[in-house]
Formats: sequence, structure tokens, C-alpha cells
Amino acid sequence: MIPFNSPPVVGGELAYMQEAITSGKLSGDGGFTQRCQKWMEQHFDCPKVLLTPSCTASLEMAALLLNIRPGDEVIMPSFTFVSTANAFVLRGAEIRFVDIRPDTMNIDESKIEAAITDKTRVIVPVHYAGVACEMDAIMALAKKYRLFVVEDAAQGVMSTYKGKALGSIGDIGCFSFHETKNYSAGGEGGAILLNDATLIERAEIIREKGTNRSQFFRGQVDKYTWRDIGSSYLMSDIQAAYLWGQLEHAEQINQRRLVLWNCYYQSLTPLGDSKRIELPTIPADLIHNAHMFYIKLRDIDDRDAFINHMKNSDILTVFHYIPLHTCSMGEKFGRFSGEDRFTRSQSERLVRLPLFYNLTDADQQKVINATLSFFS
Ligand SMILES: *Cc1c(COP(=O)(O)O)cnc(C)c1O
Repeated sequence: MIPFNSPPVVGGELAYMQEAITSGKLSGDGGFTQRCQKWMEQHFDCPKVLLTPSCTASLEMAALLLNIRPGDEVIMPSFTFVSTANAFVLRGAEIRFVDIRPDTMNIDESKIEAAITDKTRVIVPVHYAGVACEMDAIMALAKKYRLFVVEDAAQGVMSTYKGKALGSIGDIGCFSFHETKNYSAGGEGGAILLNDATLIERAEIIREKGTNRSQFFRGQVDKYTWRDIGSSYLMSDIQAAYLWGQLEHAEQINQRRLVLWNCYYQSLTPLGDSKRIELPTIPADLIHNAHMFYIKLRDIDDRDAFINHMKNSDILTVFHYIPLHTCSMGEKFGRFSGEDRFTRSQSERLVRLPLFYNLTDADQQKVINATLSFFS
């Protein structure tokens, strides 16, 4: 069976985890955490990056940091993971879902303004498949209406928009190092990017259970005390050691994924040209990270037949998000702004092919052959 995903392993992870164990410092903010954070601050040109247990935790930190309160409204696409919405619903916010663009499956920037009310506080662009949302338009709206922008860049590590790293453009960016993403922190993990320097001090306090422990360890205060609400949003240094083994080879992982992505694209271009399927669109001005290769079929029946055909060839392919506004929780805590022209219909057509760092050329060829045979 060719799996849909297999977590990336480059080789150095175990030795670094051993080093962390030998150092005797396993809790958060140890040596490997510092290394990973510095690396990301430099590579992504961000004033402060903090490792967290997950992208979900990063999004929750963002909602706490921006003082989201009951009655506040938050704008996001409905075609996203539940955590994007839950983080704000936990603070009492209501979600305004905006339709997606059929070409990138990202929030349609031209439909955001109609969803803004005097209760709107935040726009959350989700960079689907590591392909950037139209950030210039989104940042201009945020400026005009004095809103915050929290980028859900769970899938966008190492992607750029007009030369800027995804996650580094809005006020806050959130990364995932879950094993299904391009880089893993041993299964679960995340980071929060604080692009607005005025948020850094409070972010450190919220992440350290509401205490100023970070300042204490830097020698800035002589005792640490309860200063704010907060929780435990640190990553174990053993996980950070695993992540360091991956970040050190980030370019190598990225390049391999791009080779696989481009091979799928070229091999399936004839099917796209004949309009039998739709291939992903990568707009100009951005560089993606090959997080995902999806194709879109005619409709849900065609898509399900394809998934079955692939399963019979021992290949796992999977569909993606059930739009949040169609779920019971989405109906309770959210509302779709305007008409759902594309979210439901496009999500029903989409299927993802296996794409992971350790996928061999031979296995990829099997996936391509099985895909072509479905349409012949
Ligand atoms: C994976 C993902 C998340 C959640 O990431 P975790 O690290 O598993 O919490 C959130 N948003 C999007 C868009 C994702 O793809």
C-alpha cells in the first residue's frame, strides 16, 4: 500500500534527541528551542518566533493576544481546518465565513469587504496547500478598517508571497509541525510568528502560564509572578531537537517535495488540457512549498470513484475539509457571508495524491500510472 502521507525523516533527528536527553534540559525553551526559533527568525525575517505544541495552540495564543471577546467577529474561509475557527470560538467570537476562489481554494479577497461589520476584529487568511492568499489586498483592507490579520500558515512553511515568507506578513503567523506537514517536530508541534513587536512581551507571558518566567530567566526581573491569563504553550525540547534535525535540511526537504510536485504536474498536464480534470493554479508573484498536490474531478461521484479506483491499486488518496459552515458547530457559531458559490462545490471535487519527502520515484510513478488508467 502506498500511504497518503508518511512523516519526513532526514536522519539527524535521533542524534539531536539524544543530545537533548544528555543535556538534562527537556522542558520548553531549552537549547534546541532557541536554535529553531533563531533559525526561523532569520529565514523568515520575523522579529520573534516562539515554538508551541501545535498550530492549534498558536491560533489560540493569537486569539488571547488580540483580546478576542464575546460578540467579536472573525473573518475566515469555510474551507479550512476546525482549529482556525475553534481558537476564536473559544474566546466567544462569531465566525463570518467568506467564499473561496476556485483557482487556489483560498479566501476570495474581493468578497472580504462585504463581510466586515463594526464588530469585525480579525481576518484569518489560510494559505491552502502552501499557496499564498492575496496578502496585499487583505493587508490593505485590514489597514482601512483597523483589523488584525492572523495568517494560518500551517501549510505554508517555506512559501513566499512577493518575496516575503508566509506567516511573516500579518500581525501574527501560525505554523504547524504536525507529521502531515512539510516539517515535523516528532509528530506534533507548531510556532507563532510575532511580526508586531508590541505583541512579543505579552506573548511570552501568555505562553508561560501567564507568568513573566521568560523575563526572570533573562535576569530582567528578580522573581516571576502571575501577570496575565495564559496557559502552557511551550514545546518540549526533545520535540524541538527532532524539529532541528528537519530545519537544518529544510531546503533539501523543500527541493525534494517540489520535484515530486512538478513531476505530478507535468505527467497530468494532458488530462488538465483535455479538461478532464483541473490542476492546481499557482499565481505569479509567489513561490509555493509543494505542501500538497491535488486534482479536481467533475463532481463528488467522479471523485469517490477515483478514490476507490486508487484504493484498488493499493494507493491511498484522500479528500479534504468538509466546509465548516455545513457542520453543526459552524451553523451554531458562524454564518456564511453572501452566497456559497464555490466552497461546497469545489471542495467536493478535490482529491489529494500522496506527496511526502520519503516518497520514492518508483512509487510516484505507480500513482501517476494508476491515475492515468482511471481516465483512459
Ligand atoms: C494542520 C492545520 C492546522 C492544525 O495544525 P496542528 O499543528 O495539528 O494543530 C490548522 N490549520 C490548517 C490550515 C492546517 O492545515
